[in-house]
Amino acid sequence: MIQRDYLIIGSGIGGASACEGIRKHDKRGTVTLVGAEIFHPYKRWMLSKSFLREKTPPLKKLPIVDPRWYDSHKIETRLGTIVTQLNIDRRLAVLGNGESIEFNKACLAMGSRPVRPPVAGVNLGNVIYLRTIRDALALREMANLEKTVMIIGGGLLACEAAANLRMMKLKVGMMHRNPYLLNRYLDPDTGTWLTEYFAKHGITMLIGESLNGFEGKTVLRNIQTKSGNRVQAGLAVVACGAEPNLDLVRNTPLSGPHGSPVTEYLETEEKGIYAIGDLAFYPDRLMGGVRRQTHWENAREQGLVAGANMTGKKRQRYEQIPYFWTEMFGLRMDFVGDFSVQPTKVNLRGTYAKKKFIARYYQGEKLRAILLCQQTPREVDAAKRELRNAVGK
Ligand SMILES: Cc1cc2nc3c(=O)[nH]c(=O)nc-3n(C[C@H](O)[C@H](O)[C@H](O)COP(=O)(O)OP(=O)(O)OC[C@H]3O[C@@H](n4cnc5c(N)ncnc54)[C@H](O)[C@@H]3O)c2cc1C
Repeated sequence: MIQRDYLIIGSGIGGASACEGIRKHDKRGTVTLVGAEIFHPYKRWMLSKSFLREKTPPLKKLPIVDPRWYDSHKIETRLGTIVTQLNIDRRLAVLGNGESIEFNKACLAMGSRPVRPPVAGVNLGNVIYLRTIRDALALREMANLEKTVMIIGGGLLACEAAANLRMMKLKVGMMHRNPYLLNRYLDPDTGTWLTEYFAKHGITMLIGESLNGFEGKTVLRNIQTKSGNRVQAGLAVVACGAEPNLDLVRNTPLSGPHGSPVTEYLETEEKGIYAIGDLAFYPDRLMGGVRRQTHWENAREQGLVAGANMTGKKRQRYEQIPYFWTEMFGLRMDFVGDFSVQPTKVNLRGTYAKKKFIARYYQGEKLRAILLCQQTPREVDAAKRELRNAVGK
């Protein structure tokens, strides 16, 4: 039986940061990082951006830290390995190869996976879900062979994939059931401007259309819409959201409808077991409410906090203003704050025409979120401070 002080399950940015957080406060404790993917933790956010376009895949730019860091910090990595069972009472994890690890503390960092819409043909060839390096490499290959691609969805990933594939000169369509792109985050005016911006870049917008199914014998040929249209496409990228990888803790209190519920210290109801990143459903001490974020900075910061807390030498609350960014057709957009509810008032400084603006989102008189388009990191930091002041923390 293998015994460890700390077990980290999932080798994304969350798991990698948890290792870093542990080592900041405990140089000696035994740590194992188990990850289903064969790669050392890497910058997943790059996969939908220039990674798709560069002549040779820039694999060397992907690692979050030099893979030798894990050895030099005495962190055992077991990559290409799945944790298949977790016995919470016995503090025991069973690996895909049959080995077991008994642990003192654990961090669940299993992240999320693409949602597969409940329609026919979701497993056909050339229907791609973009989550891992393998997916991105496959998409690159297919994009070089196909002329047309349909993106299903209108969220961040859908927009980034569409923009980059269009920059690779493919004929790109976007099927989005809502009235404008990024409708989960943007107000109607900004969303309409962005949708028109995509159309100006030659993307065929199928706005208001819902997916009915994919057709083809083994490989995709057509896509059906709910309104009865049939669109020819050799390739589809499905970007309809990401759901938490909760299989390991299914039917336990560590699994809930919105993720793995945790306290402000990122600890689950089981003492010594933490959950972070795309998996965690956490109380937001600054903006209020309880939320699960599927964004990079959140997973990174939560990993650091959970890692520190696991050592017992620190007891930190997770207190960050929600934040994420995106890049599409050379536009950089930064999202600071809570975009989960439509604003009742928007204050726009700058103009859409110049593609450079800051939009402040209010609920009544309360500032809730700041959207920055083509602004500097300094402006983004200032927005985070402004929002902290606005919520009085
Ligand atoms: C293509 C793409 C582009 C993105 N771009 C941006 C962006 O521009 N800005 C932004 O803020 N966010 C972006 N994101 C989101 C961001 O990457 C995620 O929020 C972040 O990766 C979450 O980190 P995580 O560690 O929680 O989970 P993940 O990165 O999902 O890592 C979890 C890891 O755990 C592994 N795992 C799961 N189950 C098990 C198991 N049972 N045993 C062992 N291992 C397991 C998984 O295989 C995976 O490797 C993007 C995401 C994608 C897919």
